[in-house]
Amino acid sequence: MERELSQRLGDWSPEELEAAGQEVLELIRDYFAHLEERPVVAQIPARELQALLAEPLPEESVPFAQTLAETKANIVPNLTHWNHPNWFAYFSAVSSGPGILADTVISALNANAMLWKTSPAASALEQVILRWLAEMLGYDPAADGVLINGASLATFYALAAAREALGLNIREEGIAGRDLPVLRVYCTEHAHSSIDKAVIALGIGLKNLVKIPGDGQHRMRPDLLAEAVQADLARGYKPFACVAVTGTTSTGALDPLAAIGRVCEEHGLWLHVDAAYGGFYNLVPEVRAQVDDLNVADSIVANPHKVLFTPLEVTVLYSRRKGELAAAFSLVPEYLRTAPQDGTVNYMDFSLQLGRSFRALKLWWVIRSFGRKGIEARMAEHLRMARTLEANVKAHPDFVRISESVYPLVCVKAFPRDLQAEYASAPPERRCEIAAYLDRLNAEVLERVNAGGHQFISHTVLRDEGYILRVSIGGLRTRAEHAAALWERLQAEVRAADEALRIC
Ligand SMILES: *Cc1c(COP(=O)(O)O)cnc(C)c1O
Repeated sequence: MERELSQRLGDWSPEELEAAGQEVLELIRDYFAHLEERPVVAQIPARELQALLAEPLPEESVPFAQTLAETKANIVPNLTHWNHPNWFAYFSAVSSGPGILADTVISALNANAMLWKTSPAASALEQVILRWLAEMLGYDPAADGVLINGASLATFYALAAAREALGLNIREEGIAGRDLPVLRVYCTEHAHSSIDKAVIALGIGLKNLVKIPGDGQHRMRPDLLAEAVQADLARGYKPFACVAVTGTTSTGALDPLAAIGRVCEEHGLWLHVDAAYGGFYNLVPEVRAQVDDLNVADSIVANPHKVLFTPLEVTVLYSRRKGELAAAFSLVPEYLRTAPQDGTVNYMDFSLQLGRSFRALKLWWVIRSFGRKGIEARMAEHLRMARTLEANVKAHPDFVRISESVYPLVCVKAFPRDLQAEYASAPPERRCEIAAYLDRLNAEVLERVNAGGHQFISHTVLRDEGYILRVSIGGLRTRAEHAAALWERLQAEVRAADEALRIC
């Protein structure tokens, strides 16, 4: 079959598409069959990769077989593999069979879910998915909701709605040249950088994002939030929003939502909950029992593309403050006016996005394929692996466990036993020396673990604990043996790094 499109107009015939599709499926099958043999992180230097891919704009049709061959040869081997079973860095974001195939169908149908009329079944299915996801999170299923392309934008939209809800009419009059109060937003230093970016984009200013200190477990201290709000009120500022996190990026900390909610309620602050990572772990009863009721949130974001085995990009944003997202973002030009019909929703009304892909379909396929119980079972397994690793770390004399998380994120620090013993009674200068050495040691361990490409972990730096290692377990293909191998590797690299660094 031809499939070259060189001698004619139009697209592949349906038969050509199917034949090419078989070859693509073979590529995907091979990819997963041999994924574990590949390094997790691409090993090629950037310049070499750029040179490998540099080519002029093709004037003529390139045979698809050649494009496929080059995809296999040049693209796939030079990626960092998020689906890899030995991925333990950042947070996992994995795709699953049903999600992968749904993306193909989404592209085939190419439904634009901006208005009900432009995509009735896509909009109706989005309503269903929004109810399901709300049930999974434990958030009000009657809340306004929308599927969008990332938690960072969701937080921006939520804070924009919160700003509009102040009644300062910023939507109409803007912020420049007006006599407006200084707007203040609160979160901890462990909240995600997307909050900083949102206050930049909303004209609130980074210096008006107040970082509330955390407790020993890096959770926001509600008493200090209340103090900060009162101090700001006394200065004539306008506190208007607080972002609490269930599952912070650094350590998986869980901000105390109920207590924060009471402070927000007392002072009329909009509470946005960033549940991008942690939210869907509420499917697991042992987690849910430790998380305060999410319904204190005026708005909440969670990431199916992080924890629900659904390919990028799909995030869910809800607000139980009905109408506020639309008040911020709904704007219907004449050419998009449609006759309202009972029960319909125009999803373009809830964000800045107009053209929207049919994201609900992949969630529908994924959730139906695994079932709620299937998703819960996989999450429970990730939690089991994390708890096993934690127990190993606790029992080992050359490691300390840093922060406790209800999620499958384990934060550890290599701390050789002789230094632990010395540290306890060391004078301040010696303590500083030891702390500096531990930072170097742990950075070296990270380098060594990641260097071979067999495993991939990440790090963070905390104010009190310094440089620490993060092991996040959430891959669909990660099994207990992978986590066990990582633990062996960590021990070996700590011994090797300690030996290498202490000699000098
Ligand atoms: C991943 C993450 C984000 C950012 O999510 P994107 O979808 O990549 O924008 C924000 N907050 C938290 C807590 C996260 O874990």
